[in-house]
Amino acid sequence: MKMASLHHSHYTSSVNLCSTHHFSVFPSHNNNSMRSLSYKYKLPATGNLLVRSCSDDRAFDVVIVGAGIIGLTVARHFLMDSDLSVAIVDKGLPCSGATGAGQGYLWMTHKTPGTATWDLSMRSHQLWMMMAESLKEQGFDPMVELGWKKTGSLLVGRTRGESDMLKGRVKQLSESGLKAEYLCSSDLSKREPDLLVDKDTAAAFLPDDCQLDAHCAVAYIEKANRGFASKGRYAEFYDDPVKCFIRSDSNRGVEAVQTSKNTLYSKKAIIVAAGSWTGSLMQDLFRNWGMEFRVPVRPRKGHLLELQNFNSLQLNHGLMEAGYVDHRSISGLESSDHGRDLSVSMTATLDAAGSLLIGSSREFVGFNTDLDESVISHIWKRVGEFFPKLRMLSLSDLSASRKVRIGLRPYMPDGKPVIGLVPGLSNVYLAAGHEGGGLSMALGTAEMVVDVVLSRPGRVDSAPFSVDRVLE
Ligand SMILES: Cc1cc2nc3c(=O)[nH]c(=O)nc-3n(C[C@H](O)[C@H](O)[C@H](O)COP(=O)(O)OP(=O)(O)OC[C@H]3O[C@@H](n4cnc5c(N)ncnc54)[C@H](O)[C@@H]3O)c2cc1C
Repeated sequence: MKMASLHHSHYTSSVNLCSTHHFSVFPSHNNNSMRSLSYKYKLPATGNLLVRSCSDDRAFDVVIVGAGIIGLTVARHFLMDSDLSVAIVDKGLPCSGATGAGQGYLWMTHKTPGTATWDLSMRSHQLWMMMAESLKEQGFDPMVELGWKKTGSLLVGRTRGESDMLKGRVKQLSESGLKAEYLCSSDLSKREPDLLVDKDTAAAFLPDDCQLDAHCAVAYIEKANRGFASKGRYAEFYDDPVKCFIRSDSNRGVEAVQTSKNTLYSKKAIIVAAGSWTGSLMQDLFRNWGMEFRVPVRPRKGHLLELQNFNSLQLNHGLMEAGYVDHRSISGLESSDHGRDLSVSMTATLDAAGSLLIGSSREFVGFNTDLDESVISHIWKRVGEFFPKLRMLSLSDLSASRKVRIGLRPYMPDGKPVIGLVPGLSNVYLAAGHEGGGLSMALGTAEMVVDVVLSRPGRVDSAPFSVDRVLE
């Protein structure tokens, strides 16, 4: 058993023992009363036998399924902004989903003003900036704690049509209150001397855009959440997949979340923030009840190339090609399988540790997360079209400093995450489907979830994200 037992105060004994686990759980019948639970289980041969006799130690106000950036920030918001207790459960570890593969840009350059996603992203960025500021005020360095960098972002176009589009975008972004500048080819060259620039190349420049490191940010948020464990308000259950929901007899709610090792009772709300797995998980959970429930979240696989301690390229800002806006399949890139819909758009950032991150691909290949070297070659070729210096280098020469991150973005067909109450249930909420913007939208999503659960007026309208809109 991992974190869960570390944070439990009812730990009574621990001796080495053997392989299977079993439970005896005796919940009381009153939903809101204290529960009296007792159970025993045995861990694998190398593990411990934990025998606990406890009262209410498996009952929490809020149970969160999925400890990616969305689940963790939702937990954080409940802990900081209410007095509710929170349990978070994951089938793996926090960075094992899409979150661990994220490039870390929190940019507005490629987002469209006037949309619901824009409003959520704007609020989220404000909250990220407040977090970075508050770290500074407490004497911490946000670059160390969050991998935070205010590099500004450049959305780069290379054709006349793209430059015209960028002029319109800069106007739109400025009108919506952001500092935005159109850079013609000569201005762009001065800002990014290593970028290949010809007369048609131009960029939209957002000097205030920031980036973070997903692993640092997750570690920081986990640490903050764990600060509430000693007060009995927080527990983590990792490497412990959710298997089913236990329905309450008295109302249209779910009484508990059954994992492979634990039964976690919820007094107030269950939040499913299982990223790409949300659709299949909800379908399985409802199938157990003989019901159909389909949320169209699908895994969209992405590869990201990381070159550690890379100093062969000067990169002053975060860069993204204009084609990223609609994930156009690039010319010459043939996807052998039509349904796979493979596309590669150039993104380039230098992270706080000095690694060059080059992205990224998108494709629909189910839950497959195998490394595909041909996709890496496409990414390398694409970035070489923007940075001629990289064409001189062969990827095989960089193998010692090379890492590949692969993750499944939670894709929604209408491009908006799904945030809100599951129709027909009184206490189950979804927070998923952020595709390529989950890091960026996390804090705004967390605030929205807490406001919805606590029936508080939200800073951002949650209606466009409702679950009913997407039910198939
Ligand atoms: C290559 C790449 C680059 C990206 N770059 C950026 C970027 O620069 N900026 C940005 O904003 N976004 C970026 N993203 C997108 C971002 O990473 C995702 O939108 C975000 O991580 C989604 O977070 P999540 O918490 O919803 O999902 P996840 O991180 O996938 O977390 C879901 C969690 O649910 C758990 N789970 C699943 N099933 C169960 C179960 N049965 N029981 C218990 N737990 C379960 C999983 O183990 C997982 O930990 C990128 C994504 C990729 C792939």
